[in-house]
Amino acid sequence: MRQVEESTEFRLDWKKLAKAAQGGNDVVPVCVQDAATRQVLIVAYVNQVALRETQRRRVCVLWSTSRQKLWVKGETSGDYLDLVSILVNCEQNSLLFLVRPRQTGACHTRDDCGRTRLSCYYRTLEADDRLAFVTPPSSSPSYILAAAATSAIATVLFIAARRAGFSF
Ligand SMILES: [Zn+2]
Repeated sequence: MRQVEESTEFRLDWKKLAKAAQGGNDVVPVCVQDAATRQVLIVAYVNQVALRETQRRRVCVLWSTSRQKLWVKGETSGDYLDLVSILVNCEQNSLLFLVRPRQTGACHTRDDCGRTRLSCYYRTLEADDRLAFVTPPSSSPSYILAAAATSAIATVLFIAARRAGFSF
């Protein structure tokens, strides 16, 4: 599996939906999105039980189509996704969970530094059909906000220091 997850080779699993249907479980796709940054974290599946459990526990609960079992996101890693709200699409055949990640990761994979990746979407499909790794954290909205805040604070300190008679 790691070969797929850490590879730059584009090998899309075109049989995924057929395999998901094979289990005999009625499922719909669910997009899981960070309620604050709107970053898409995961796209997975829920059956009726997973949806009810998500509503009841107020954390993201999915249906693992590969393991054919309920999958409480974060149960082993601690990367729980606290539920903010559930949206339904126009045709009522998919869901959108807006969540608040309890920790800094949502994907089960880890980056070069050993940190859990926040989103499953860490590679872009290039024109030559190769995959390119997106380089976090510079691309993440929270990092950009933090960088902007740091820069604003630096500017304020600079002006204050200038007013106090310091020269640079
Ligand atoms: Zn993932």
